[in-house]
Amino acid sequence: MSHSNDPRFHRSPFKLVIGGELVDGAKLIDVTNPATEQPVAACPVASVEQLEDAIRIAKRAFPGWSSTSLDQRRALMRNLAGAIEDRIELLSALLTAEQGKPLSQAKFEIQRGCAILRHFAEAELPVRTLRDSERERIYERRGPLGIVAAIVPWNFPILLLMNKLGPALLSGNCVIAKPAPTTPLTTLRIGEICAEILPAGVFSVICDANDLGAVLASHRDIAKVAFTGSTETGRKVFQSGAATLKRLTLELGGNDPALILDDANLDEVAPQIFRCAMANSGQVCMAIKRVYVPDALHDDLCRRLADLAAAAIVGDGTDPRTQFGPVQNSAQFEKLKVLLADCKDRGTVASGKVPSHSRGYFIAPTIVRDIPDDARIVQEEQFGPILPVLRYTSVDDALARMNGTEFGLGASVWSTNVSRAAEIAEQVCSGTVWVNRHMVADPAVPFRGARQSGIGAELGDAGLHEFTQAQVINISLRGG
Ligand code: NAD
Repeated sequence: MSHSNDPRFHRSPFKLVIGGELVDGAKLIDVTNPATEQPVAACPVASVEQLEDAIRIAKRAFPGWSSTSLDQRRALMRNLAGAIEDRIELLSALLTAEQGKPLSQAKFEIQRGCAILRHFAEAELPVRTLRDSERERIYERRGPLGIVAAIVPWNFPILLLMNKLGPALLSGNCVIAKPAPTTPLTTLRIGEICAEILPAGVFSVICDANDLGAVLASHRDIAKVAFTGSTETGRKVFQSGAATLKRLTLELGGNDPALILDDANLDEVAPQIFRCAMANSGQVCMAIKRVYVPDALHDDLCRRLADLAAAAIVGDGTDPRTQFGPVQNSAQFEKLKVLLADCKDRGTVASGKVPSHSRGYFIAPTIVRDIPDDARIVQEEQFGPILPVLRYTSVDDALARMNGTEFGLGASVWSTNVSRAAEIAEQVCSGTVWVNRHMVADPAVPFRGARQSGIGAELGDAGLHEFTQAQVINISLRGG
């Protein structure tokens, strides 16, 4: 019986995955369930020597792996997606326990992760002919980079891993994944599945206590860092990679504005704004984090959003009625409580309900109005279920305020006049601007941040190319 078909698979102690082997860490740290504040399990964390081992083994595996055919790699990626889906019930229960999100959303995250793997299993890396004449032939091909570090945050531990693993494997790279210290467990189980399917050394999982990301990001044998996390840490990764001119993808923070135009239909728009601000308890890089609304619609929108907040069901993600789980960790919980106090000080707040028991990192969906532009909730990325509603008198004024930030991840414009909305969308400084939708991701559509929300893209052909080295072959056909 293979290890992951064993019913004990999901109860066995967690191990690091290094070079296809399951190994103990240098020490153990507790992973906490954010709904109960009780430990979920002990997670092994690696020593620097174990990280060096993982890199050494990946380096040995790389020549063999990168010379497998594209078809062999496609087949393994499909097998991997299937094997993860076969265990989705157990994996999603584990994801809910460590991350806090409702079980149906944990399942959705893992399904989406598998869909991303399958998407990249079918993607192409075509050779591009640049010149083809009697005199010369010039073409561009793409090969792998080497060993890729996939550094992931705690809001979507599996989806954000797959954004990296899919294109990295297809293009023939070896990968070392480093999950966030508060959400490592589901990644370790997926690592165990990978160890059964992929050649040894192609995929390793290293857990840490927030101390090994910097080692990976500066290591001379790591060719690329694919990083998702905060803008602050992204700057450190940028610096760490400088000495070796590492290839980098930085998917960083956002402060996405939604602009509601005066002809918008609030029956349609208000529930969507609420959902796109509060999903995953606001812990989505591309969630709506500020709403700009014309004077005439302001009070109506605030009332509707406050009603939705009052009706929201917040609780433990294992309860099927729960719509919004806790925030993921105590540091984020403390940060949000301070932000909330500032909102109460400087604006008017309407909050929903949290469970009455005292345990768990619960913050109710909260709508903030009458808050000045220089308040923290407007200027900073809240990364939680607190949404400021800001009134405007002219679209130009709203655009200037929307664009007056260092961030530029996503944004949206809402209107019954789609061409007017699209014209205004082009004036927003963000990598993606949605019209009459927000937070829609598609494996075939690149996602990238403008300004300090990131460098490079994930998903789509652009996201695949980030894991390749382009090479031009330039041939003279006149003798030689
Ligand atoms: P974080 O930056 O604190 O941590 C992210 C990861 O980086 C973790 O695995 C962490 O251990 C690791 N890390 C810490 N220090 C490091 C260092 N010096 N070098 C390398 N790695 C290091 O982010 P977080 O708090 O876990 O996640 C929340 C943030 O992630 C938010 O700002 C959110 O907007 C952002 N995010 C962005 C996207 C996107 O696609 N743009 C998606 C999801 C989340």
